[in-house]
Amino acid sequence: MTLTIGVDVGGTKVAAGVVDDHGRILEKVRRPTPSTSPHETARVIAEVVDILKARFGEVEAVGLGAAGFVDESRSTVLFAPNLAWRDEPIKKKVEGEVGLPVVVENDANATAWGEAKFGAGRGEEHMVLITLGTGIGGGLILGGELYRGRFGIGAEFGHYRVVPDGRRCGCGNRGCWEQYASGNALVAEARELARVSPALAGRLLELGNGSPEGISGPEITEAAREGDSAALECFRSVARWVGQGLADLAAILDPGAFVIGGGLSEAGDLLLEPARAAFENALTGRGHRPFADIRIAELGPDAGIVGAADLARSR
Ligand SMILES: [Zn+2]
Repeated sequence: MTLTIGVDVGGTKVAAGVVDDHGRILEKVRRPTPSTSPHETARVIAEVVDILKARFGEVEAVGLGAAGFVDESRSTVLFAPNLAWRDEPIKKKVEGEVGLPVVVENDANATAWGEAKFGAGRGEEHMVLITLGTGIGGGLILGGELYRGRFGIGAEFGHYRVVPDGRRCGCGNRGCWEQYASGNALVAEARELARVSPALAGRLLELGNGSPEGISGPEITEAAREGDSAALECFRSVARWVGQGLADLAAILDPGAFVIGGGLSEAGDLLLEPARAAFENALTGRGHRPFADIRIAELGPDAGIVGAADLARSR
């Protein structure tokens, strides 16, 4: 059995785990991310690795999953919107501090790899991971391999534009898919409904302490589980965008499975059923072709740790 360490470096926390070759996490450590200082972030990564290394002496390598653009040699983070990293040679820095080989990967790619190998995508050679959270993240497995693109920055499905001149997006464009199909889009939908038609959104407003701004994702899910029609309408609206987007991706990629992760996936069938219906309805050549399964991710927030650790093993 070989052990590797996976580290998930996000804008708010650094979470690390020792992982065995069956994808099991033996122990985890987390620390807040000192996100304004590149140097401090590297130091915290080295610190969590050292703690785990001290407890499990036989660790072979370290995989870092970072929320940002990672270059194709998997050693430098070109740009990370929520960290202070700009052209940060993080592989070299961490290797120098911990004395183990380090592999750097985009966090969504690491998550996709974890789900493909040990989670909801097991056995699928062609799989698309979509994470629905603040925005939309993605990872692509083609022919059993992680697809990174020529420059290491592919599979950014959230910024695939679905509405010409549509809603503004943080990336600088308009009409990106994540403006319509993410967790944030669901919250925006519910708040707008509560502002425009407060009489219809009574339960949502109650859960949001009386104001549209008080309504967040878990409250919308709670109301929808109770059968509240306004909350269910918000889910149907966002799920339709999810399903249509997946159908367009299927036209290009023809995967065996779409695996849906991120905060919004915790709604389960509330999201999945209307998304599947919209997917089947929008699919090109529908009725005359086999089509991809749409499933909820299985590894939850640990998928990034498991995936990064496994990528370090097969480096
Ligand atoms: Zn965008």
